[in-house]
Amino acid sequence: MSLSISLPKYLRSLDSFQGKGSTCPYCANEISTKSSGESICNFCEMPSDTSQWKKLRSDIHGFITAKNNLISKNSWAEAAKLVEQAIAIDQSPHMLYSSGIFYEAYSNYEWHSVDYNLKGYMEENSMHRELSWQLLSRSKTLIYHTIKMCHDTLTSEPDYHLAYVKLIAETRMKRMAQARSTLSLINSDPNPSTRKDYANMVYYSCINDTKNAILYIDSVSNTQINAFYYLSKLLVNNSMTEDAKAILVKLNNKANIPKARELLIKILESENTA
Ligand SMILES: [Zn+2]
Repeated sequence: MSLSISLPKYLRSLDSFQGKGSTCPYCANEISTKSSGESICNFCEMPSDTSQWKKLRSDIHGFITAKNNLISKNSWAEAAKLVEQAIAIDQSPHMLYSSGIFYEAYSNYEWHSVDYNLKGYMEENSMHRELSWQLLSRSKTLIYHTIKMCHDTLTSEPDYHLAYVKLIAETRMKRMAQARSTLSLINSDPNPSTRKDYANMVYYSCINDTKNAILYIDSVSNTQINAFYYLSKLLVNNSMTEDAKAILVKLNNKANIPKARELLIKILESENTA
């Protein structure tokens, strides 16, 4: 099915999102959402409700909050030490996955630190590249570990919450056959939830099933700002790059979504080399 959307409608809808002040208990990022119950983190996509942040252990609270302060000063290596301390305490699949996303963002930071104007000092650039690969490898290890932990638990009991984490991790690693079967488990939950619609949105966007993807994007975008990233990705995959760019510029001003930032950089780079 070819894709046709009303760009002004989505831009207006995106405008109506305000920072709500809810905080992710796995990465301490502010979540921009219209949901008063469970919401999905803009940064790491883990689901939580406001009570979890309030009940968070004070040591983990300290590590992940300080980590974000360090990132804002570009002190990523110091931030990574705090992430490792948080994982040492909380080895839940949620925390492992969220930390995997931290390492992916750190890897991207190093990758973009390459200075193409450095002529006589190319070894400095190769150090950034090398570190970027190492960080990406750490990220993948944590995400694969997340999938395994979810898998091991799900073989003994159907846990819809954990199935969501597994699907997000599987789609991130492009394990689409596994994700398909995880989605069936998620959809067998008789209760409606944002998490369930979100999982469907992610899966159908990843396989570029435009009909189903738009259906779930429309539903999720009522409360979760991340839906606009999936809309942008779908637009890029269907050669509607200008519309995607308009959404991504606005989205990146409103929320901290690493994938949305990378997608916009990719579009701008391809324009410069065209
Ligand atoms: Zn988070």
